[in-house]
Amino acid sequence: MPHLVREGLFIGKIDDAADVLTKGVGEITHLLSLLSSASISFFTDWKASMLIPSQEIRKVFAGESGTPSGSDDEGEISPKKAIPEGKLVYTLERAGQGMKIVRLAVPLRDMEDENLLDRLDVCLDFIDSSRKEGSILVHCFAGVSRSAAIVTAYLMKTERKSLEDALESLVQVCEFVCPNDGFMDQLKMFEEMGFKVDLSSPTYKRFRLKMLGDSYNRGHKIDSSIFGADPGLPPQQRIPEVPHKPASPAAIYRCKKCRRVIALQDNVVIHTPGEGESCFTWQKRRSGNPFNRHAGPDCSSIFVEPLRWMTEVEGGGLEGKLSCIHCDARLGYFNWSGIQCSCGSWITPAFQIHKNRVDISAI
Ligand SMILES: [Zn+2]
Ligand SMILES: [Zn+2]
Repeated sequence: MPHLVREGLFIGKIDDAADVLTKGVGEITHLLSLLSSASISFFTDWKASMLIPSQEIRKVFAGESGTPSGSDDEGEISPKKAIPEGKLVYTLERAGQGMKIVRLAVPLRDMEDENLLDRLDVCLDFIDSSRKEGSILVHCFAGVSRSAAIVTAYLMKTERKSLEDALESLVQVCEFVCPNDGFMDQLKMFEEMGFKVDLSSPTYKRFRLKMLGDSYNRGHKIDSSIFGADPGLPPQQRIPEVPHKPASPAAIYRCKKCRRVIALQDNVVIHTPGEGESCFTWQKRRSGNPFNRHAGPDCSSIFVEPLRWMTEVEGGGLEGKLSCIHCDARLGYFNWSGIQCSCGSWITPAFQIHKNRVDISAI
């Protein structure tokens, strides 16, 4: 049986979802499926006797936009950058006996390195709109990790609860929930970003870089479509288009030799000076305004997200130099295994710009 979490919100496992689709369960009108495959055939593969009719309403791939609610007049959501271009983000369909159930299927594996953060907006918006129209069951396979992570995020956002409090509150109704460690890290970031996925925040940038590093380490081809826009191009030629909200205080980094813009403050991935380990010990970094320490006085370099002008990176090598795309002057290095800043911190993966090769000016 699905567990009631809040009015109009249930959590459960695949059996519960199958019951909803084949015979209907009480008041449930909407289903959020978090399985490794978005296809309804996942159910048939799981139990061969099961035949579930379905009709697609919409399919959205990364790089496109759409609304998960089924009506076109609601706010556009645009799948986030860390999901490679062309990858399925979700399928929205009518399914089940009499096509009565509206199902949002978001492909998600229960793995620590799975990108949960970039799917939160789609999932949480759908839960919200479903509760206005009826009741929703959020389910994964076992009802332990994936569905629990999404419902926890939903409680965090709607009830302004910390990760610990939200999870604790969920455990009250469903004692065996336990999001995997990678999901827990990402939920912590969600809390740090103020219960939203803020693309311009340092937390999100470090996350995106980590995702890219994981993908490189798994031997995937480098997908430069998720690199940041080249800030040296005029705004209308920048791909992807970035709604520019400069962080404050904002700075521009230019090649010292030719003055071409090579990075903006927004592109800088901050690190804590002197921290002698990976940049990705997420939980430790809570103190102070991060922009006051994007690079400490002892740091001889800044570290940035990979940008479209870094053609050397697209070659797929583990490391290499970074040169100005305009005058070819040496600006720094990249290394997917990480580089140690002069302050002692390790940044992994690292896209390093030497401070003495650039001029910094205020916008
Ligand atoms: Zn230059
Ligand atoms: Zn440093």
